[in-house]
Amino acid sequence: MADTNSTPQDLIHKSHKAKEFAYSPYSKFRVGAALLTRDGTVFTGCNVENASLTLGICAERVAISKAVSEGFKEFKAIAIASDMVDEFISPCGGCRQFLREFGLHWEVYLSKPDGSFIKMTAGELLPVSFGPEDLLKSK
Ligand SMILES: [Zn+2]
Repeated sequence: MADTNSTPQDLIHKSHKAKEFAYSPYSKFRVGAALLTRDGTVFTGCNVENASLTLGICAERVAISKAVSEGFKEFKAIAIASDMVDEFISPCGGCRQFLREFGLHWEVYLSKPDGSFIKMTAGELLPVSFGPEDLLKSK
């Protein structure tokens, strides 16, 4: 559903709602994400763990994969949520690379359950990164 007036607070709220669906029986560490596309569509994700532990997937990658699989590749922002009250949730290294794939300048909101957040960009989270442009330069 397109929502072109989405605020950071709206997106953060949606990421915390998405966290409710987290499948995290092993870590008990719930994570949610809400991804806002350029046209205002929001895709949510949660972490999905697996008994074969290395197969687990993070909330951010679930949300991005859902969007890409439905034809969306241009993003304005992603909000990330966890249950940590004293620290802002921060994406893992793999997710930082996944975010960076779709640009350096879009916004990432690292939040707490009280709705407070830090705003960064995908590029700030993964400085001096390797990305799609680098593959083209090598030709
Ligand atoms: Zn991750």
